[in-house]
Amino acid sequence: MLTNIERILFIIFFIVMSFLTYKSFRSMHKIINRGQDKLYFNRLFSRIIKALTVFVSQKTVLKSRPVVSFLHSLIAWAFIIYIIVNIGDVIYGFTAFNISYSFGIIGNIYRIFIDIFSVTAILATAFFLVRRFIFSSERLKYNSNVLINEDTLMGIRRDSLIVGLFIILHIGFRFIGESIILRMEHADAWQPLAAMTSVIWSGLSIDRLVILQHIFWWIAIGLIMAFIPYFPNSKHAHLFMGPINYLTKKNPYGYSTIGSLDFEDESNEQFGVAKLEHLDKSHILDAYACIMCNRCQDVCPAYITDKSLSPSALEINKRYYINKNKKSLAAGYESQQILTQFAINESALWACTTCAACLEICPVGNEPMLDIIQIRRDKVMMESAFPKQLQGAFTGMERNQNPWNLNEDRMKWVRESEIEIKVPTVEENPDYEVLYWVGCAGAFDQRGQKIAQAFARIMNAAKVNFAVLGNNENCTGDSARRAGNEYLFAMMAKANVETLNSKKVKKIVTTCPHCLHTLKNEYPQFGGNFEVVHHTEFIDNIVKSGQLVLSAGNKNSIYTYHDPCYLGRHNRIFNAPRKNLEAVKINFAELDRNRENSFCCGAGGSQMWKEEEEGKQPVRQNRIQEAIELNYNTVCTGCPFCMTMLSDAVNELKSAIQIKDIAQVIADHIV
Ligand code: SF4
Ligand code: SF4
Repeated sequence: MLTNIERILFIIFFIVMSFLTYKSFRSMHKIINRGQDKLYFNRLFSRIIKALTVFVSQKTVLKSRPVVSFLHSLIAWAFIIYIIVNIGDVIYGFTAFNISYSFGIIGNIYRIFIDIFSVTAILATAFFLVRRFIFSSERLKYNSNVLINEDTLMGIRRDSLIVGLFIILHIGFRFIGESIILRMEHADAWQPLAAMTSVIWSGLSIDRLVILQHIFWWIAIGLIMAFIPYFPNSKHAHLFMGPINYLTKKNPYGYSTIGSLDFEDESNEQFGVAKLEHLDKSHILDAYACIMCNRCQDVCPAYITDKSLSPSALEINKRYYINKNKKSLAAGYESQQILTQFAINESALWACTTCAACLEICPVGNEPMLDIIQIRRDKVMMESAFPKQLQGAFTGMERNQNPWNLNEDRMKWVRESEIEIKVPTVEENPDYEVLYWVGCAGAFDQRGQKIAQAFARIMNAAKVNFAVLGNNENCTGDSARRAGNEYLFAMMAKANVETLNSKKVKKIVTTCPHCLHTLKNEYPQFGGNFEVVHHTEFIDNIVKSGQLVLSAGNKNSIYTYHDPCYLGRHNRIFNAPRKNLEAVKINFAELDRNRENSFCCGAGGSQMWKEEEEGKQPVRQNRIQEAIELNYNTVCTGCPFCMTMLSDAVNELKSAIQIKDIAQVIADHIV
């Protein structure tokens, strides 16, 4: 179809654009490589399958906002399909051979699919443009207290417009070009929409149609070739950086654990993240992968309660900072600004509860929560700039090995139990089968002690051979790590691992999901490898084995269950607590936000030890409000931090709702 001159022009154009594309991707690669750690390629085959599955199925996109997500998926699928279409069109341009007519029924299906799909992709893109530019959807906006730069706001609008128009024009011109071919060559029942459109060319001579065919071919193919070098700088980059994110992140199958720091390395002058290049490579890549969809913001408890934290703003600010400073970053120069100047403000930094809702919802596997913890590390360890109230918890963990800063006997909860319980220490029962890790809340907090006492009653009733560390147990350091005090955390982790290894501990049960998370997922970094279970899992097992017999509960009141973030989202323990409640045959109903979509109580991320950042409502009240509106009588949970937060919220809102740990409910039904 193309003339010889056009062929030569195309080849020159292709070479120039390929060179510009190479330069563009090379600078992207250099910028990502400025980061720390590495991109992960272990178990490559399974990573490739994961990345392809996510991309082709669009399942991570489709898990929320069903209508908008389906329309977005149409565009993503169009991206994949149009790679094939464009190759076919270039072959046609050079040889006038239309490959899709050569495969019988498969070619026919291909043509009808492309015909319909082209129109739906154009309509879907038009919808997104109208949504952003005409209806200004609330979901695409930010609270006025969120740090979002002018460059970012301008960039979002500019990119959205360019990308939207590019898709419409590229697919549109290609579709019209196809309708001209149908007019010139033959009718095709397998392209009904292009055939209908071809009617508009009915008055034109063949010569004119040929000229138009060439023009539309050049616009359609020229647009894609001109766009590719711009690709890495545009928001469209998420189409391939999203799958690459899954391909290369530390843990593509779940949330990545935060890495430890090497304090022994004397050459290390920076602990934590101050500047963009201090981030891990995969967290710089996050900025390129971001769809800018604000799904993470929609579920962030801090944002919902009007704090100045928006995880999406963090990622998007990073992206436009990179775009603005692309040359100097790629050339290896140091960033001129720190992240808290352009990506996230200080209040937002300290508002994060580390609930992982943003990680759970993000369709491209971004991890803004890990950026936040890493930036906190810099603030705490390099600048000593953190909310003053955290100092009490730090001092407590350092001097008294508990964030309550109490210098008391860790076994007091046993002596003070209203019902007699038998809780031997490892010294008193050296042949124990399972170690009960009581946690600081169980040892020192009044409400936490009730949970520990209830669980001890359960273990006594089930004749479990257990022991505790007593005064040899120290805080796991969870709050120190989440607050960015990695140095303190590392000290505590090493000491605890030493104790646990010296006592030859194999299996641990704990009533605290924060302890569970730290012992199970983070202590392996310090040489501690233990089987760690939550008390709800433990109870489920002893009920199943017949070791624990329970009576049926009261059917008059409605019980519900609040999934603690560190039990549910972080450790995927959703069923055991529900089975526990099923075992006592009470009247159970779910909260609207449950399981992986649960809403935080507000205590995690070291918020327990400080006032919440400025906002319109405490997170805990937002959570309990849901149970109040549903007229539930008892909210059960499986975490002493949730217990504290939810009980406080009930008091503040003067509600009659009871808050109980699962262990307390079960202990009340021991036969
Ligand atoms: S971890 Fe939770 S609180 Fe922190 S940014 Fe993500 S959603 Fe918001
Ligand atoms: S981080 Fe993920 S969820 Fe948040 S805006 Fe970006 S793509 Fe969307």
